[in-house]
Amino acid sequence: MSAAPDILPEGEGRLGALLAASIGERRRLERRLHELESSDPLTGVANRGQLHARLAEVLDAEAPEAALLVLDLDDFKLVNELYGHTHGDGLLIEAARRLELVASQFDGACLARLGGDEFALLLPEATYPEARWVCAGLLNRMRQPVRMGMAEIEVGTSIGLAMLAGRDRDADAALRDADMAMYAAKSAGKNCWRQFEPAMHEDLVARLTLEGELAVALDEDQFTLHFQPLVRLDGSGGLGVEALLRWQHPTRGCVPPDMFLSVAERGPLIHRLGAWVLRHACQQLVAWAERLGPDALEEVAVNISPRQLLDPHFAGLVGEALAVTGVDPGRIVLEITESTAMAPNSLEQLLALRALGVRLSIDDFGTGHSSLGRLAALPVDALKIDRSFVHAIPETGDAPLVRAMVAMAHSLGLSVVAEGIETPRQRAYLTDLGVEHGQGYLFSRPLPAAGVVGFVAAGGAPH
Ligand code: C2E
Ligand code: MG
Ligand code: MG
Repeated sequence: MSAAPDILPEGEGRLGALLAASIGERRRLERRLHELESSDPLTGVANRGQLHARLAEVLDAEAPEAALLVLDLDDFKLVNELYGHTHGDGLLIEAARRLELVASQFDGACLARLGGDEFALLLPEATYPEARWVCAGLLNRMRQPVRMGMAEIEVGTSIGLAMLAGRDRDADAALRDADMAMYAAKSAGKNCWRQFEPAMHEDLVARLTLEGELAVALDEDQFTLHFQPLVRLDGSGGLGVEALLRWQHPTRGCVPPDMFLSVAERGPLIHRLGAWVLRHACQQLVAWAERLGPDALEEVAVNISPRQLLDPHFAGLVGEALAVTGVDPGRIVLEITESTAMAPNSLEQLLALRALGVRLSIDDFGTGHSSLGRLAALPVDALKIDRSFVHAIPETGDAPLVRAMVAMAHSLGLSVVAEGIETPRQRAYLTDLGVEHGQGYLFSRPLPAAGVVGFVAAGGAPH
């Protein structure tokens, strides 16, 4: 716009040219406005309105054979918080690009961003076997690692599929069904796809009920902690315990954490729940010290959820729990999952926690992505090898992955805890590698607080 008028002729010609230029500019703006109305400004794919129109068109056709997919990136909110919004936007753009590659293989396909990290893909004329094939292929394609600054991360996708053949012509209902199927995929553990079934309406009601019940469970004192012993693998006895949350539901009985933590993590409850766990674990350690002597249990490990760690008040809260209960900070180990520990936005928090004197351990090590350089720079004390690797130790022969993890941890000056030890062979193999500490059903299942007293009294020996 700036250079063009200077090279235009004088007089009327110049005025005409200016007019033409401004008309050109107006057209460009109109085109841009239209684009903005019809496409998502960040990724350039269609927006919800455009998808809706196209869906209505497809549903209006005689006997449409079509598939509608709703896709949602797993834990995107967390990626945004851990890596910052610029990287979050980059991830969305990359996701759109990968989806576009698939859409381009189908005539008349429409790819749209419905908002946030949710996309929809309409495939007119796709049959069920084709749709199934697309879903499976997409899961694989979307999971390929994406670069985030210094790190590479893998983000799963949950996909809901609704087949449109033989259904009524309501575009909203079709979108709702695909959305519900996507939620079913999330509930089934994420990174998978589900086809819509009418029974999913009932599942949704059940999930919403759970959310409602969780909200009152804390006020009604329905949570409790169990403790699983951590032992020294050289046979010299117990070391401490890991606190594991349990929900004593009034009608469903004991609900394990995997069933409700992800629901709690979606809202503010996780912060209150996390604070409750921390305070109770500290209080319990004090109570055991009074009953069993100060050194009977050297430490208590507490799991910290990623959202808790990212809360700017978290270190303050830990300090408060230590002060109120009078626990020696060196006896508290905070377990942080690998991917959270690796994210750049966590470092400041980890340093603040270390400054309080608590110790830090990386939980479920081996299941996320670690950059070795980053790992060496992290202020952590121990690695907990994920139980899937321990389970994979063969009855005879070597487990090279476990061997490599242990060697790496030791060369970085970190101690190693192996979790999920169930067999004498696993214990023997890990002991031979020099793994210091272990945890698993071979030694003890998680116990109520009173059970820990019995375990310690028995010398913390394997049963
Ligand atoms: P985790 O931190 O890796 O805890 C170990 C899990 O492995 C526990 O499951 C424990 O019961 C189980 N386990 C221990 N030994 C064995 C074994 O030999 N074999 C097998 N198959 N499993 C074993 P649990 O109690 O169901 O907890 C599951 C996860 O829930 C925990 O995994 C942790 O990530 C999370 N969690 C538990 N309590 C809390 C909490 O208070 N706060 C947060 N944020 N997360 C928690
Ligand atoms: Mg843990
Ligand atoms: Mg673990």
